[in-house]
Amino acid sequence: MIQSAYVVPHPPIILPEIGRGEERKIQKTIDGFRKAAEQIAEAAPETILLASPHTTLYSDFFHISPGQKAQGDMSRFGTPQVRVEAEYDQALVRMIEQNAKKAGIPAGTAGERDPRLDHATVIPLRFVDQAWHETQPKYKLVRIGLSGLSLRTHFEFGKCIAESIAALARSAVFIASGDLSHRLKADGPYGFVKEGPEFDRQITEIMKTGDFNRLFELDENLCDRAGECGLRSIAIMAGVLDGINTKAELISYEGPFGVGYGISSYLPE
Ligand SMILES: [Zn+2]
Repeated sequence: MIQSAYVVPHPPIILPEIGRGEERKIQKTIDGFRKAAEQIAEAAPETILLASPHTTLYSDFFHISPGQKAQGDMSRFGTPQVRVEAEYDQALVRMIEQNAKKAGIPAGTAGERDPRLDHATVIPLRFVDQAWHETQPKYKLVRIGLSGLSLRTHFEFGKCIAESIAALARSAVFIASGDLSHRLKADGPYGFVKEGPEFDRQITEIMKTGDFNRLFELDENLCDRAGECGLRSIAIMAGVLDGINTKAELISYEGPFGVGYGISSYLPE
C-alpha cells in the first residue's frame, strides 16, 4: 500500500554542515522538508522507494541498486561526517525486476557503477532519519535510477513499481528526488534563460494539482532549455500513484540560488 508520495529537492547547501548559515536563505525549503519528513516518520513505512537522478544512470535501462545495504556520505562536499545508511528491500527489488520484465521495461540490478548512496538520496533520507521515531523499526530502501527512455516509459515503470508494492503488501512511501530548473538566475550555476522560470511555473502547477497527465504535454524543448533534474523522477512517481485518488499539496517552492527547489506531497484520500 502506498501511504504517501513526495517530490523533494537535494541541495547540499540545505545541510547546516555544508551551508554554514547559507541554508537560512532556503528556510522555506528546510521547513517543507521537515514537514514531509515528519509525515513520513509518522506513517513509519516498511519501505521507502526513492527515485534519484544521481545514482547509476543508463540511456536505455533503469538501474535499481543491488545488495543488502548501502551507505553514503557528503565527503564530496567536504563533510564526510554527514552519513546515511540503509538496508535494501531485496524482495521488493526482485519483484520490481520481475514485473518490469513482464511489462517489457528494461530495469534491474545489473551494472552498478558506484554502490555508495548519492547526494540526491542522502539528503532526503537525512531529513527522514532526523524525524524517524527511534521506537519504530527502521525502514528499508529501494533506490531507483532514471534512464534516457521516454517520460512515458518512466511513468509505465512507476506502474510496475506500484504493482510490486501491492504484490508484497508493503506499506511504502515514494520519494521523487529532483531539483527543478538550474537556470533561474544570471548568478546561478548555469546562468539565466527565460525557459528556466517558465518550466518551474509549469511543473509546480502540475505538482500542486497532481494532474500528472500534463507532464506529457510539457514542451520538450522547454524542459531541455530549463536544465531540469527531477522531471523523470516525478514521472515515475506519477506512475506509482496512477489510479489512486490523492490530495496534492505544494508545500514549498523557491529558487534563491538560481535552482528551483519544490516540495510537494500526495496523500491518498
Ligand atoms: Zn540533481
